[in-house]
Amino acid sequence: MADCIFCMIANKDIPSNIAYEDDKILAFHDLEPQAPVHVLIIPKKHIASLDDVQNEDLELMGYIMTKVKEVAEKVGLDNGYRVVINTGEDGMQTVKHLHVHLLGKRKMTWPPG
Ligand code: AMP
Ligand code: ZN
Repeated sequence: MADCIFCMIANKDIPSNIAYEDDKILAFHDLEPQAPVHVLIIPKKHIASLDDVQNEDLELMGYIMTKVKEVAEKVGLDNGYRVVINTGEDGMQTVKHLHVHLLGKRKMTWPPG
């Protein structure tokens, strides 16, 4: 999708620090990490948010979730991690291309801010 920064990253139109890639997803390090390790996992297909997931995305969404542990292992998250999908205005989603935040290498707090 034109004008989508994460589509541009998926297409390699703008650079990113890639942690994992295959034909369906890309994982890259966040520019402004909120933890010692902070990776974003995105579908290469443009899906704006969790609110925009369709029945046809069932397999892709399941695929993303099954890959989390593999990406976590690749980036050294050997003692647990947190996964976050900010959605919509109250969820404070800033980039309108669905992304899974994978954060770790520090103890997280609860409740989240
Ligand atoms: P969210 O606020 O959940 O929409 O998260 C968007 C995330 O994308 C933020 O953590 C940003 O730091 C990150 N981000 C924005 N642009 C880039 C970029 N070009 N490369 C890596 N991370 C980015
Ligand atoms: Zn996009």
